[in-house]
Amino acid sequence: MKNFHEALLDSRSILRRNPEWVSRGWVDLEAELLLCAAYRQMTGVSLSRIQLFLQMQDPYPQKAWDYLLELSEQRAQGKILQHLTGFQVFLDHEYEVGPDVLVPRPETELLLEYASNTLSSMKYGPILGLEIGLGSGIISIELLSQFPQLKMIASELSPAARARGLKNAYKILGEDRLLLNHLTILPVQDPLEVFCPFEGEMLQLKADFLISNPPYLSSHDLVDSEVFNYEPHQALYAPEGDSLYFYRVIAEEAVKVLKSNAFVFIELPHNRALLIAELFEKRGWRVKIQKDLAGLDRILIARLGAWNG
Ligand code: GLN
Repeated sequence: MKNFHEALLDSRSILRRNPEWVSRGWVDLEAELLLCAAYRQMTGVSLSRIQLFLQMQDPYPQKAWDYLLELSEQRAQGKILQHLTGFQVFLDHEYEVGPDVLVPRPETELLLEYASNTLSSMKYGPILGLEIGLGSGIISIELLSQFPQLKMIASELSPAARARGLKNAYKILGEDRLLLNHLTILPVQDPLEVFCPFEGEMLQLKADFLISNPPYLSSHDLVDSEVFNYEPHQALYAPEGDSLYFYRVIAEEAVKVLKSNAFVFIELPHNRALLIAELFEKRGWRVKIQKDLAGLDRILIARLGAWNG
């Protein structure tokens, strides 16, 4: 039987067959992640990187080794790392992901950070929030785990994404919160009817905020080939020919479902951030834009009332 170190070398040598992985400097780290993922899949034991280094001379089970070679081959062919490991850590939690949902991005962690900070400074904590496009559930679930009184209503077009978001919610929030209806997931019949799912009896009560990381790419935007080939296009792309679609509809219609001093938190395509800010301002919203770690305009916070209060 091979030991961990030998298995690691095998994975690296497979990943090196892809010149892009080599030039991006991804081989060593990814081989370690795949080594841990295959081991976890076959033994149920999760190893941190430190633990991994401490047990390099220990035997690496044959079954895990077979699986590691398969994962490494698939990764060398360009398959997305998180689709192979099955999860992505986002803020404080591990989310199950797959080809049916967007892999959580670091930019979205910033969206959450700004939303949490703003909502924490409200006089009374937020009671009801809306999310457009639940996906893996990262946004609603992180907010629910931070604000114990909060209820979230989230829309999602894809049945597979709804199932995955719900599974993540059970795992991370526990059953009690779901039995108390703290997360409601609404199906979307027509992607061009953004607010339909929220209307009706759910919103006798208006919400304190709306949050979204909507599909915002246009077919002219440059996209990594692995993203284009393996991530769900309906989670990535705005309707053809109208890349501002979700922003415009939210700027125009969110007032129907929000309290008068509610907030909108939304992730932006940095190259269209100013157009989007303008679109909100023209409809009477006060707007702030926050940059991401690369210094690009990434988050829009909008409010109809005054900023303080
Ligand atoms: N809310 C999810 C996320 O931020 C899904 C977003 C989407 O599918 N566009 O990852």
